[in-house]
Amino acid sequence: MFKAILIEKDEAGDRAALREIDEAQLPEGDVTVAVAYSTLNYKDGLAITGKGPVVRRFPMVPGIDIAGTVRESRHPAYRPGDQVVLNGWGVGETHWGGLAQVARLKGDWLVPLPEGFTPRQAMAIGTAGYTAMLCVMALERHGISPDKGEVLVTGAAGGVGSTAVALLSGLGYTVAAVSGRPEEAAYLRGLGAAEILDRAAFSEPGKPLARERWAGAVDVVGSHTLANVCAATQYRGVVTACGLAQGMDLPASVAPFILRGVSLIGIDSVMCPRPERLEAWSRLVRDLDPAKLDTMAHEIGLSEAVATAGQLMAGRVRGRVIVDVN
Ligand code: NDP
Repeated sequence: MFKAILIEKDEAGDRAALREIDEAQLPEGDVTVAVAYSTLNYKDGLAITGKGPVVRRFPMVPGIDIAGTVRESRHPAYRPGDQVVLNGWGVGETHWGGLAQVARLKGDWLVPLPEGFTPRQAMAIGTAGYTAMLCVMALERHGISPDKGEVLVTGAAGGVGSTAVALLSGLGYTVAAVSGRPEEAAYLRGLGAAEILDRAAFSEPGKPLARERWAGAVDVVGSHTLANVCAATQYRGVVTACGLAQGMDLPASVAPFILRGVSLIGIDSVMCPRPERLEAWSRLVRDLDPAKLDTMAHEIGLSEAVATAGQLMAGRVRGRVIVDVN
């Protein structure tokens, strides 16, 4: 038997609770992992609270992130004792996930624990941090170097946002952070933000074009915020879009794209090809200051995951949540 968060569905709706589960119920997979830590991302919050259609199959063990040790393996790349990390691939959505003491997975989904990180640090980063790195890599790939001008990060006090601020400032960019939480200004400055902007200035409908300000942006918010960010992006600037915290809509005009050559780059972490994942993880080892990682993450136990998911959805969680499943 092992402990896990289980989401069940009945006539009354979805309900998530801590349960004891028989290992015989684990799904198919060629690698069994003793989970050390998982995390709570926005998507886990949607799954656990039932606020978004994340879970495709019931009952489901949520948790899109895993760090742990291989216990059994029929996969040629992994042997018992290997330390591994998993992000995405539909785990916690269509396949039982990481908010559990044991997980059975496809070996092809795993990456070795990046050398230089403990399992706990890997989960302090988690999907949110790895996605922030994918955004930074996309800005670089499209020519946005620190000398091009200021970069903007929205949803800055959340998981993706905090990591993006820390990474970009560490790489020498001048970072402006958008947040709805003025009480987190000192925290954001500590991560390296040069300026804090009120999210109310971004979240309402704006003009198709505004004063050219941002060389690049990491947007986790979508909706009017993303439209306003694009409208205020410099000639040939680049906006990376990875989230929908304000909304899935994009009420924008094409003006920034056709008049200023702005690029809007979509970022997906879930099905991201393995070489890019490995590159992102090795860049995180190199470019993320471990002291900043410590300030942005806090730890909870598995029994606190359901309540904390509710707080995450209410926008009351700062930075990243690590879940010690044992
Ligand atoms: P968090 O909940 O940690 O952070 C989201 C932040 O967005 C909040 O902290 C808040 O920042 C801001 N926010 C919340 N609600 C609103 C709102 N109504 N209007 C404007 N801003 C808002 O989530 P994560 O960092 O884990 O994820 C952020 C987004 O990125 C989510 O939409 C998630 O689904 C997406 N995501 C996408 C991935 C991909 O592969 N494309 C991977 C990982 C995440 P503040 O308090 O500072 O204003």
